[in-house]
Amino acid sequence: MKETMKGLVYHGNKTISLDDLPMPKIEKPDDVIGRVTASAICTSDIHIVQGHAPAKAPLVLGHEFCIEVVEVGEAVKEQYKVGEHYVVAPLSFCGQCDMCKLGRVGRCENGGGFGIFQSGAQAEYIRVSNSRTCMYKVPDGVKDEEVLLVPDMLATGLFGIKQAGVQKGDTVAVIGLGPVGFCTCELLKKIYECNVIAITRQQESLEKAKRLGIADEIVNATDSEMVGKVLQITGKGAPIVIETTGNQTTMETAFNIVAYGGMISTVAVFGGPISVPFHTLVYKNARIAMGIQRAEGIADMIQYVKDGVIDTTFALTHKVPLNDIIKGYELFGLNGKRTPGCIKVVVTPWEDR
Ligand SMILES: [Zn+2]
Ligand SMILES: [Zn+2]
Repeated sequence: MKETMKGLVYHGNKTISLDDLPMPKIEKPDDVIGRVTASAICTSDIHIVQGHAPAKAPLVLGHEFCIEVVEVGEAVKEQYKVGEHYVVAPLSFCGQCDMCKLGRVGRCENGGGFGIFQSGAQAEYIRVSNSRTCMYKVPDGVKDEEVLLVPDMLATGLFGIKQAGVQKGDTVAVIGLGPVGFCTCELLKKIYECNVIAITRQQESLEKAKRLGIADEIVNATDSEMVGKVLQITGKGAPIVIETTGNQTTMETAFNIVAYGGMISTVAVFGGPISVPFHTLVYKNARIAMGIQRAEGIADMIQYVKDGVIDTTFALTHKVPLNDIIKGYELFGLNGKRTPGCIKVVVTPWEDR
């Protein structure tokens, strides 16, 4: 085994660098050491680096990842075998500490969010703490990248769908077509058989959603007739709106298109405060729901991938080896502008050049 590894470290103060780090070691009996086979850069990573979201520093970033098991702690020897591949949830938790007892497992004092409160996956290797709370086997015949988006992007979409109370066949407007927006459309269409209206400013993304068959209707958010078009499609406004972007304009769009008695569900993490026109909600008798996903439904969604019901590989538009991860961050919008057509950046293992 090597003595050091490469990893992307967040140093606080908007600074990241690709550093040589000590190899992770088993520290607790239920730890697993994994070789990271694939990881993804998340919008939350960008928020952290830009200083809009909290994270410990210095810390290796990354919470969307798959591993090949290379070492197994004493307590989980029966459960995991060296060489097996797992996709890992964005957080792990002990279930015993004060934070866990409050239900705030993402801030578990003995675990928590990977790449937020404990060392993350944008590295060659990772220590997966509390392995029983976060590891899901990649089924035979399924590639790691095919399930890479399940525990965060798809689970976030599912959280938004569930908190909105979506039923099969409902009409749902999805605002924003970033990775979560696309994954939400995928689930709404393939699992919930909904009538999906996709809304964003990027015409290219709208057309992609239509082409993929995961949006029935597309409306460009820059169109001055946008609200009128949604009314035309729905007759009375959208009964359910799932908002995935979280800025002033997208939230206003949600308030404007929601129907009387409708539901706005937002899964955005919000980079800062926005002003909320609550009077619109009051007069529409509409409701709003929000929050952070709780890594639920992962096993079911992995099964859907295995069965070929859902497929999110279309979202893996860009790939960089760990060597070029900072370039990957730039592609994904670190300096303000995401590369057009880029839905998700996958980080592949370090390449010896
Ligand atoms: Zn994420
Ligand atoms: Zn805990």
